[in-house]
Amino acid sequence: MRDTKALLFPSDFPQIHRHSSDTLQVNLGYRCNQSCVHCHVNAGPNRTEMMTDETMAILFKVISSGRFKLLDLTGGAPELHSQFRALVRHARKVGMTVRDRCNLTVLFEPEEEDLAEFLAEHQVEVVASLPCYSELNVDLQRGKGVFSKSIAALKRLNSLGYGSNDAHQLHLVYNPIGAELPPPQAALELEYKTQLSDRFSIEFNQLFVITNMPIKRFGSTLAAKGNFHSYVDTLKAAYQSDNINNVMCRDTVSVDWQGYLYDCDFNQMLEMPLKNSDHSKKHLATLIEDTLDNAEIMVAQHCYGCTAGQGSSCSGALSED
Ligand code: SF4
Ligand code: SF4
Repeated sequence: MRDTKALLFPSDFPQIHRHSSDTLQVNLGYRCNQSCVHCHVNAGPNRTEMMTDETMAILFKVISSGRFKLLDLTGGAPELHSQFRALVRHARKVGMTVRDRCNLTVLFEPEEEDLAEFLAEHQVEVVASLPCYSELNVDLQRGKGVFSKSIAALKRLNSLGYGSNDAHQLHLVYNPIGAELPPPQAALELEYKTQLSDRFSIEFNQLFVITNMPIKRFGSTLAAKGNFHSYVDTLKAAYQSDNINNVMCRDTVSVDWQGYLYDCDFNQMLEMPLKNSDHSKKHLATLIEDTLDNAEIMVAQHCYGCTAGQGSSCSGALSED
C-alpha cells in the first residue's frame, strides 16, 4: 500500500481551532475477529497491539475527572480487549454515554455469547458498519458469511430492545465504495429502514453516512488509479462553509492504543498528532489537567472530506444535503 500522506500537503484548508472537548474516542487496539480487505488499521485476529494496563489505568483517571460526556470505543474489535467491560462499567458509573463501534460478528465469538446482554444492561450505544443491505456487497467488502452473521446480530440486538427504545440506540454506518460523495443521508436511511424491515424485520435508529477520506488504503487505491487529486478536487468543489463549525475535531479527542492524542481518528491514521508547542506527542495523562480549549487543529487536504456536501463525521452527516 502506497503512503499518500505527502499528497495532502501543502493544504489550503482553513485553519480551525477546538471548542471545548466533550467526546473521548479511544482505540483499544488492533485485534479483531475479522480481517476486512478495506480495513484502515489492518486489524485482524493476529494483531497484538492492545492498550496496556498502565495506559488503561490513566484512561480510568481521565474518565473519573468527569470532563467528557461521551466515550466512543473503537479498534479493531474493542470488545475483545480484556478490560472492555470494566471500562464500560466505570464510564457508565460516572454518567458518561458509551458508544461501542461494533462489527456485529463479534457477538458470536467464543466467550462473547453474553456480550449483547452486557451492552443492553449498560445501555451502551451500538454503532455498526453495514455498508449495504445486499449480501453480495457486504460479503465482498467484509468477508464471506459476514452479511448473514450481521443480520443475526442485529436481530439479537433488536430482541434486547435495541433500535426501538431511547435507552438502546442502534445506528448503522454506510460509506460509498467508490470515489464519489455519498448520497443524501435521510433518503438512504429511509431505503435501509424499508429494506431491513421488509426483508428481515430489523429496526435501527439512524444511518450514519460517512464520506470516504483520501487517506490510507482508499487514498492509495485512488493514487494507483490516478484519481487522487481529482477526488480531492471533488471534495473541495463541494465545500460547504456551514459545516466547518461542526467538524468533529472541534469537540472530540482521539486516543490511540498507546495513549497518544489526535484531533480525530483520520489524523490518528495519518500519524498527525495533536499540535504541541515542543513538537512531542501529547499523551492521555495530560487530559487530566489540560482542557485543549481553543487549541489549533492539525488540518490538511483530507479535511475537505468533512466539509463536502452534507458534511461527514463519525456520527454521519453534519447538515442536510
Ligand atoms: S471489522 Fe472493522 S476493525 Fe475489524 S477488520 Fe473489519 S474494518 Fe477492521
Ligand atoms: S479530518 Fe479530522 S481534523 Fe480534518 S476537519 Fe475532519 S475531523 Fe477535523
